[in-house]
Amino acid sequence: MLKKILAGAGAALVLLIAVVLGRTLTIPAADLAAAGAPASIDAEGAAARLGEALRFPTISYQRGAEPGDVARSAAAFTGFRSWMDATYPAFREATSREIFGEHTLLYRWEGADASLDPVLLMSHIDVVPIAPGTEGDWEYPPFSGAIAEGYVWGRGAIDNKGSLIAMVEAAELLIKRGFRPQRTILFAFGHDEEVGGGEGNKAIATALQERGIRLHWVKDEGGVIGHGLLPGVSVPVATIGVAEKGSISLDIIAYSKGGHSSMPSPAAQTAIGKLAIALERIGDRPFTSRVDGATRNMIEALAPAVPFMQRAVYANLWLFEPVVRNVMEGSPTAAAQLQTTIAPTIIEGGNKENVLPQQARAVVNFRIHPRDTAEGIVAHVKRAVDDPEIDVEPLAGIREASAVSSIEGEGYRLITQAIGENFPGTISVPYLVVGGTDSRHYLPLTDNVFRFIPIHMGPDDTPRFHGTNERVSVANMGEAVAFYVRLMEMMDEADRAR
Ligand SMILES: [Zn+2]
Repeated sequence: MLKKILAGAGAALVLLIAVVLGRTLTIPAADLAAAGAPASIDAEGAAARLGEALRFPTISYQRGAEPGDVARSAAAFTGFRSWMDATYPAFREATSREIFGEHTLLYRWEGADASLDPVLLMSHIDVVPIAPGTEGDWEYPPFSGAIAEGYVWGRGAIDNKGSLIAMVEAAELLIKRGFRPQRTILFAFGHDEEVGGGEGNKAIATALQERGIRLHWVKDEGGVIGHGLLPGVSVPVATIGVAEKGSISLDIIAYSKGGHSSMPSPAAQTAIGKLAIALERIGDRPFTSRVDGATRNMIEALAPAVPFMQRAVYANLWLFEPVVRNVMEGSPTAAAQLQTTIAPTIIEGGNKENVLPQQARAVVNFRIHPRDTAEGIVAHVKRAVDDPEIDVEPLAGIREASAVSSIEGEGYRLITQAIGENFPGTISVPYLVVGGTDSRHYLPLTDNVFRFIPIHMGPDDTPRFHGTNERVSVANMGEAVAFYVRLMEMMDEADRAR
């Protein structure tokens, strides 16, 4: 009997291995062949103009910032706009322009076929400030737009003027060649992305909605062409955000009678003690973690680019999902792809060493995975805290997670094709954006939002993002222009073939 069972188990194991190997071997290895020839692009010219664009310190500030700072930025935005007009006359001539929230620019390049829904290309003009005290750490001053060592240096080079300039360079070049798109292309250049986009892209989205406009698809910032950013992957990987997480912050407030610290209640009954217990309970009840949706699609798309053993795992998530999940949960960056995250960010309570506070408060920020909702998170936290005397209240500024855009549709296909042609050897993968982008304002107008800029980034570059020595290479600017040229041309080819 035992022999029979073992034989049966053995056969099952052999079958399992056969299926695993079969699935691994049928995954084609990454196609490293170069595709079409690059368009004749003036990379130096594009880089020089990016340098000029970086000299406008278009910093966005929160409400209530120093009036002097706000005025300086307003002048920078106005200067940038005039510079755009002077630098890209064909683009200015071929498009109509509207201004929202004083400095956000919406350009409309009218297509030949008015029956087609427009495509929206986004970038933002605003940049984050230089962290005080770090100005001197820059190899070239942050608003110099210096071109040196083969790079354009300055705040905004990556985030997000590099992509903005590349888009406009591409349109300018196409217009001069006599190109006119079949489908209307909208360009939205926000001025307040880094502070929420409430006056810029949100206002555009509202206006477009009022005009009854639907968008074919939208492309914003998000993923990049990553080099050596993923374990075991030696080829460049273009990450295209197909969804983004939401955000909710909860106020957690515990109360007690207070009194003198010489005659306290048991620690667990003080406001601070109760709050500590509540926070511990929240932390002990993580949200569902699973390799599914965009993250699963990402791993499956990476399979061709990883070594054999890793490929066997990635190609067989039906079996190895728990293994992959376990490994990913070990890294905060990877774990954020799997679940709603829990981050206590503020704690307050008490103001004198010998007085028991009557109230202690914490704020916990949750980044909402597309499978969860803000309402569900409040309910989950209340259940975890399990104490009716502790208040759990959402703060303003709730953002639900986005829907997941289809990787089967035209938008994703065109973007990946333009990547394939211009960045040979790069594989494109979908992924879940853990931060927020301005594209979320357009979610009511389309089901297809993609978040990607054609900028190279390696491990050495990630700290430059919002940090010191932000830069983009001159060669990369040429590639980025070529990418947008091909994207617009291929969009057109698809529309003509319709
Ligand atoms: Zn940005």
